[in-house]
Amino acid sequence: MIWAKTKDLLRERLTDHAYNTWFEPVTCIAETPSEIILEVPNQFFYEWIESHYRRTLDTIFKNDFQQNLSIKYTVSPETVKSVTAGEEPLIRSERSAKTTPPLLNRNYTFTSFIEGANNQFARAAAFSVAESPGQSTFNPLVIYGGVGLGKTHLLHAIGNHILQTRPGIKIVSASSEKFTQDFISSIQKNKTVEFSRYYRKADILLIDDIQFFQRKEQTQEQFFHTFNVLYQAGKQIVMTADQYPGEMKGLQERLLSRFQSGLSVDIQPPDFETRVAILLEKAEMNGLELPYTYIEFMATHIKDNIRELESTIIRLLATSSLFNREIDLELVKKVVRERLGQRALVDLSFEDIVRRVSRLTNVTEKEIVGVRRTKHIAQARQIAIYLCREILNNSLSSIGLYFGGRDHTTIMHACQKIESRLSSDLQLKNLVNSARQELNRIPA
Ligand code: ADP
Ligand code: MG
Repeated sequence: MIWAKTKDLLRERLTDHAYNTWFEPVTCIAETPSEIILEVPNQFFYEWIESHYRRTLDTIFKNDFQQNLSIKYTVSPETVKSVTAGEEPLIRSERSAKTTPPLLNRNYTFTSFIEGANNQFARAAAFSVAESPGQSTFNPLVIYGGVGLGKTHLLHAIGNHILQTRPGIKIVSASSEKFTQDFISSIQKNKTVEFSRYYRKADILLIDDIQFFQRKEQTQEQFFHTFNVLYQAGKQIVMTADQYPGEMKGLQERLLSRFQSGLSVDIQPPDFETRVAILLEKAEMNGLELPYTYIEFMATHIKDNIRELESTIIRLLATSSLFNREIDLELVKKVVRERLGQRALVDLSFEDIVRRVSRLTNVTEKEIVGVRRTKHIAQARQIAIYLCREILNNSLSSIGLYFGGRDHTTIMHACQKIESRLSSDLQLKNLVNSARQELNRIPA
């Protein structure tokens, strides 16, 4: 009730724009005398509301309702909407009367997963498991890699695919933290039998982030047994981890060797083309039409985390709608700069520099790092080398390595040559300057 009234007051007090952007999509899922639980579309909403509207909300609670309410947030994709009325929920908790939300994010599908060289193998393995769970040699399947690269996405895509294609199959999905919590609370409540039954009834068990099992001996013990029961019954197990299972510390040997008995596949950070593809897709998903140059700009600067690519788009959308402002390059730069902070200034790579020089000189990237020495190509190469040295300040030999295994004297020579010609050759100077300008990227 309070939330409904609060919304009315917010609607009166905020601009339409702000209200529609930040509060219209928010729903209240529970209210107690001391607390209110809000469901928001994504993490970004939560951050934004907390940092921009917390005071407004507190004032309303206090002045209009004479209450001090604390606010908790949940992000809506977690409480999956794909389970509509009448359908069997994916997981029905046997432990308590309250239904556990099925922990599959319905947006994480194979269709919405963009393939690139960095994740192709992982995707193929995941898809194969989703098509024939338990039947391939990919059991267990472990998907590992850094933060925000799509491990959870693939894990849930397997679940969602099976949900669609084999309605009868029992999917149990949990993070290793949830597994741990469930285990601990089952001990406290004397319900370890129920706990075991719940996890062992799975036809396919999806466990996210197994690194959180590290140093939790009891939980590992439990997981080991669960694993064995399922494995021996030919059930499929898929796990994700932040590193190669063979190298994980704080996990029992026998667990590690079980994990490695199937297939481990990694996901690498996306390359430039994949980043562009992901941004295009995310922009479209959010109904945002962006010129290619903006997309490219973002892809150049935001590199090693797909979650960040995604939130850049959302932030762009939010900022533009909040301030009622057209999306232009300035705004794009502002948002990127906010996301990157200091990193923006150092985050360039050889690859970026070579790409820019390639554009400006019409010599392909391959040729730039290749062996041919026609005048045009050699000059482009020298410019690229010079800029790498100037901007990245890498060692001569590491630059040499990147440029086709040339030795450090060649690199030094190239740098000197460009430097000496810069004062006299205006055309060269312009070229180098425009490359610099583009690469010197975000104006301070
Ligand atoms: P991880 O579990 O590896 O930390 P997530 O699976 O949570 O990463 O991915 C972070 C975000 O990036 C998610 O919103 C996910 O949908 C998105 N994402 C990751 N990889 C891809 C991809 N290849 N195509 C489209 N979206 C992706
Ligand atoms: Mg994850």
